[in-house]
Amino acid sequence: MQNTTDHQNNDTPIAPEIDNPASVDLGSCDYLVIGAGAASLAFVDTLLIEQPACRVVVVDKHAVPGGQWVDAYDFVHLHQPSVLYGVQSKQLEGWWPSLLLRGKLPWKHRASREELLDYYARVCAGWPKDRVQFFFDCEYDFTREVGGDRVHRFIQLDGSQAFTVEVGVKLVNGILGECKVPSQCPLPFPVSDVQVMTPNDLVASGRREAKWTKFLVLGAGKTGSDAIVYLLHDLKISPDDVSWVVSNDVWMLAREKALGWTQFTQALLDADGDRAQALDALLADGIVVGLDPVHHRPSKLRLSIIGRDELTLARQVKDIVRRGRVTKIEGSVGAAEVSFDDDQPPLQMRSEVGVAVVHCASPGPFNDNTNVDIFASDTQLNLNQIIVPPVCCSSAMLAMLESARRAGTLDSEFGRTLTGATTAEGALSVLKAYTPGSGESDHDLLPIRQLAIWLALLDQNPKKGLAKLKANRLSLMSIPGTKLKIYENLADMVAKSAALRTTPEDAEMEKALLVKMEALKGR
Ligand SMILES: Cc1cc2nc3c(=O)[nH]c(=O)nc-3n(C[C@H](O)[C@H](O)[C@H](O)COP(=O)(O)OP(=O)(O)OC[C@H]3O[C@@H](n4cnc5c(N)ncnc54)[C@H](O)[C@@H]3O)c2cc1C
Repeated sequence: MQNTTDHQNNDTPIAPEIDNPASVDLGSCDYLVIGAGAASLAFVDTLLIEQPACRVVVVDKHAVPGGQWVDAYDFVHLHQPSVLYGVQSKQLEGWWPSLLLRGKLPWKHRASREELLDYYARVCAGWPKDRVQFFFDCEYDFTREVGGDRVHRFIQLDGSQAFTVEVGVKLVNGILGECKVPSQCPLPFPVSDVQVMTPNDLVASGRREAKWTKFLVLGAGKTGSDAIVYLLHDLKISPDDVSWVVSNDVWMLAREKALGWTQFTQALLDADGDRAQALDALLADGIVVGLDPVHHRPSKLRLSIIGRDELTLARQVKDIVRRGRVTKIEGSVGAAEVSFDDDQPPLQMRSEVGVAVVHCASPGPFNDNTNVDIFASDTQLNLNQIIVPPVCCSSAMLAMLESARRAGTLDSEFGRTLTGATTAEGALSVLKAYTPGSGESDHDLLPIRQLAIWLALLDQNPKKGLAKLKANRLSLMSIPGTKLKIYENLADMVAKSAALRTTPEDAEMEKALLVKMEALKGR
């Protein structure tokens, strides 16, 4: 908790440059994976399944595996069911018979932070020690050239040791989706004489302190709505004591109705790429919701999934402050003044005890890292999302593609037809990073084309890819009765290319893919 004007960056420390860290030569490995978050761990797990002999070194700044879940607030749960999250080889929701015996529906289980950290610890402990080595509390410096493309170096965060390793196959950059949570990001504007709390601090403060304070919640994403629910439900704060700064209203997926992002992609395609029309259809079906969509139509679609009970609680807060972005917060005895940009009037808050600002305005997973090629070179792979969230399935699919590349079983000839490239990396470079809810219709439809590219390149027979997805718990296709509909959706995209304003190059690619996807018609 901070009562502060000091907004120094308090991010995880960069390894100090010390003159003579002890050098440790680790010899060689096949893959050096940077990051031990959800994306990297899903990648490594599938890599170990696909390449039984490969040796992997994993490096992370954190002391334990789990990435952003290590820093997240205690009361966070997955927004969507655990059944599609984690790694391929281990269920996150637990053993189904045991859950059912306890009257719990496995497909409704949503893991807590504690469960996620325990799960990732068990996953890592279960991998063969002679194949995977972990280096926690270590940092890899992407800006530093060491031994060409092959010899890499990373440093213990306390600066005591520097490790070098020769990488036989690829460096895997698993930090592109690095998620920044409020406890890692100071507020980006001046704050004086006001208590600033992160969601983690709310838990630490407990009921007694919270009871007497007025709260100003900043941020309307998943963290913001979680904090509102925690204040009202767990800390029993009256909604009258909460003000909520919502600079942009966001569309959220409704937990009871939504199956995931594929529904948005499908609705967008059905609406010929017209976002507003697609969102209207989803709103009418109760698949997307907003705080007050009739009077304040959301402008953004974020990753949040919200339950009906949570939305009902959130709507109890009446003081929703829609005045744009906050530029300054100044406190004084028993009061606070909040200033906004665009000449909006300031907000005055009064409380005998004082006002607490709950900081929920970190960028989360929305960073600028998506303009990075995935199959960047024959020595580096960048783990970016290729299809709809969760990120875990994308990472597993990339591990399959990378393994097929290494085994020489990719459909290189089709890759050549598709891209003109003569190398596997050249053909694979056609896969792009996908940012969910970008706001650009052509980008929002990318997952359909990318899924077709993945199926087409993985093997000469696209049914092999489908079989792999069906066998992978991270894929929606593992849910019995789910249809891929890739041929049908792609055919729709080809037919609607004018309305969708598909570029001539992409239209050509989609036509070529459609021919290959014919094998999956009706599946
Ligand atoms: C509150 C919240 C709830 C969420 N809920 C969901 C959900 O329900 N479902 C969902 O699909 N997604 C959810 N997300 C999105 C979440 O970002 C992803 O699910 C996933 O955790 C991201 O994993 P990642 O591996 O890409 O990034 P991270 O988890 O951030 O992992 C990146 C790792 O890289 C390490 N690292 C970074 N730089 C270096 C370096 N130079 N050297 C060494 N290590 C380095 C970091 O220490 C970190 O451990 C949520 C996000 C938030 C903030």
